[in-house]
Amino acid sequence: MAGVRVLHTGEPSATVVTLPPRGAGSPPVQPRGGGHATARQRRPGTKAGPAKAAAPAKAAAPATTAETVVSAAPATAPSSHVLVLNATYEPIHVCGIKRAAVLLLKEKAEVIENGEGELHAEHTAMPRPAIIRLRTYAPVPRRSRRRLTRRAVFARDDWTCQYCGDHRDLTVDHVIPRSKGGSSEWENIVACCSSCNRRKADRLPHQARMFPRTTPRPPHPSVFIQVACPRIPPSWDAWLQSAA
Ligand SMILES: [Zn+2]
Repeated sequence: MAGVRVLHTGEPSATVVTLPPRGAGSPPVQPRGGGHATARQRRPGTKAGPAKAAAPAKAAAPATTAETVVSAAPATAPSSHVLVLNATYEPIHVCGIKRAAVLLLKEKAEVIENGEGELHAEHTAMPRPAIIRLRTYAPVPRRSRRRLTRRAVFARDDWTCQYCGDHRDLTVDHVIPRSKGGSSEWENIVACCSSCNRRKADRLPHQARMFPRTTPRPPHPSVFIQVACPRIPPSWDAWLQSAA
């Protein structure tokens, strides 16, 4: 299928959007020894690839290519992300506009809410979806199985050092250092500023007298939606809040 044409209302130019490769997104956390890997700056606005959609793989768009934006989108352009609800109405993922169109055309999903503008695909046109719902239930990975990334850790911890509360120069810290048997799982990794990371060094919390402010645990699915889509459209808020 060719790229889905996205026409902005009042815009003479069209935007052609193709999906990024499946699984694109933030790299997994790969902290070095002692958990001293450093994120040099806070970058919550950095664009991440859309989350891998939950629907059956058969519904996948053709294996194309990184996202292509042919014309510069105006600042008021509608989001290129679509919120995907499970059959149970639980928000589970964010997908690109093209994948949403494929799911709708194949009747694997239905529109819950439209955004602005229209999509033109092959011989048909449809309102641009903002929120869609899968018609059949898609198994959601257990929270603890969700891929652990630095950005998801930072988002879960509200971009705040879990020891001193600073927002700058965030890294990730293994609460129990790896050298002492600590795992690289959600329950043992927290956001941590680099000075706290140096101070804690390779010590256990009680040795350093440094304890995380909140007990680390696997994040809610809405955290991954926020990571995948830095600008959450207002129409999504009610769905994400009700799920939190
Ligand atoms: Zn700190």
